[in-house]
Amino acid sequence: MIFDTHAHYDDSAFDSDREALLSAMPAAGVTCIVNPGCDLPTSQKAVELARRYPHVYAAVGYHPENCAPYVPAHLDELRALASDPKVVAVGEIGLDYYWPENPPRDHQQAVFRAQLALAEQLDLPVIVHDREAHGDSLAIVREFPGVRGVFHCYSGSAEMAKELLKLGWYLGFDGPVTYKNNRKTAEVAALCPPDRMLLETDAPYLSPVPMRGTRNDSRNILYIARRIGEIKDLREEDVLRITFENALRFYGISREVL
Ligand SMILES: [Zn+2]
Repeated sequence: MIFDTHAHYDDSAFDSDREALLSAMPAAGVTCIVNPGCDLPTSQKAVELARRYPHVYAAVGYHPENCAPYVPAHLDELRALASDPKVVAVGEIGLDYYWPENPPRDHQQAVFRAQLALAEQLDLPVIVHDREAHGDSLAIVREFPGVRGVFHCYSGSAEMAKELLKLGWYLGFDGPVTYKNNRKTAEVAALCPPDRMLLETDAPYLSPVPMRGTRNDSRNILYIARRIGEIKDLREEDVLRITFENALRFYGISREVL
């Protein structure tokens, strides 16, 4: 049983075969997928996919790279979208200081705080995107002790990982943990307790070894589970089972609906 906790099937990379691919997932062992939004239109699309496919769930939110148009009134639209029972998180939200053309940092931070407050009100977990913004991301989530979440595609230090784990947060692992030269993520995977790990593809991006360079999809979680198993000396099927349970607990999805 595979739970892909983070994939973007609303992306145009899936325009030619979205329906066939998503319909084939359960038979390929992919039992659950969470599709986060990155702005209002993609959050709306994520909710539509979740309504259409029993195995797809949605998250709604403004990604830091896409948050330029955000105004506070959009919070009401996110809240309305989140009233759908298949919406299981606020995301993806956070900070991205990598691209100089991204929205100004103070705007990113304001949008991040507003959405953390929304998640607290709605009692939903958050999916955090942190790229080259580790210190500010940690400082801001600390301002919201009532909010729990995952640092998706965790790329910070081992020290910061320990801080997040102490705060009760989860860490998301995807393709980069399979890259041979990526010792930092392997080190974090080694220290992260198995019950705080979530597996994710970030499809269509970040394909794991040996699929690098091709379009990613949820079936590739197997390669990530295999690599985590090597690092933690666990069997691949145990990694899949444990992380599946983690994802159900994290997103508040009952086993009975599966
Ligand atoms: Zn993503």
